[in-house]
Amino acid sequence: MPVGIIGHYRCGEHDMGDHHPENGKRLSAISDQLIRSGLDYVVRQFDSKPIDKSLLALAHTQKYIDFVFDNAPTEVNGETEENFTVGEDSVMNTKTLTSILYSAGAAVDAVDLVMEGTLCSAFCATRPPGHHAEHNKGMGFCFFNNVAVAAAYAKQKYGLKRVAIVDFDVHHGNGTEDIIKNYFKASSEDDKGYLFCSSYQDALYPFETEESVTPPIINTPLATTTKGAQFREKLTTHWFPALHKFKPEIIIISAGFDAHIEDDMSQVSLTEADYRWLTDELKTIASEYAEGRIVSVLEGGYAPSALGRSVVAHINGLIGN
Ligand SMILES: [Zn+2]
Repeated sequence: MPVGIIGHYRCGEHDMGDHHPENGKRLSAISDQLIRSGLDYVVRQFDSKPIDKSLLALAHTQKYIDFVFDNAPTEVNGETEENFTVGEDSVMNTKTLTSILYSAGAAVDAVDLVMEGTLCSAFCATRPPGHHAEHNKGMGFCFFNNVAVAAAYAKQKYGLKRVAIVDFDVHHGNGTEDIIKNYFKASSEDDKGYLFCSSYQDALYPFETEESVTPPIINTPLATTTKGAQFREKLTTHWFPALHKFKPEIIIISAGFDAHIEDDMSQVSLTEADYRWLTDELKTIASEYAEGRIVSVLEGGYAPSALGRSVVAHINGLIGN
């Protein structure tokens, strides 16, 4: 079964100002590298649809959703409203709400394509990212939590009982943890149907995370000196036994590539080979328990060339090239 890439050109339009690292050039770097690698002929490509606003409530309070929509800057009679700050380093311009809707929409579309058997696995080349967005607050370049919405959607629409979210961005997925612990648990769902594994450079943004080895939250901090060997050893020890025990029916990936050695967002020093290794391992687990179903969603990654090459390695892993 084919692997797909889902995105939309409007995800490139959200703009937080000159020189901001989370910018539309990241998506261009990915598509350039996909073309250079020849992968654009191998994968199936899909335009995402904007998410239905009601689906955001799967992971966020209605009050927060309305806050973002009501304050989104617009253009009226050729006049552009000023940017609006949703939270710490999460700023909306007139294009942002549209980008948000296509970005979250891609994650939900990817779940549909994988669950309906059109694709074996899918990568969402989208922005803004989502894993720092908590159930009632945006922060850290994120507005809505794309992977958490997709995870809840997979359960609601397809009746899945066990959904794993794995996050290898160099920053902790605090938003995803918050939603699982504080929102899913409090709603009709309990948190037992989720497993969240997050690796991150210790004491990096958002600065407040503690190691956890107890499901549903597996938090795996990495020392600044971490290279591929230590990364692989940590995940082999902490993630894989938990995933095998959990037996996920789908694996959703928060795919951030900012732990790459060329990315100055962190001191951790991974390479494309490490992302390929992890993708292979996750694919093996998905094949064993989830009929191979993987939905991977772009989070960070701010060195354009390294980001493009890492995404190619990741997609080659999904394909099994
Ligand atoms: Zn990050």
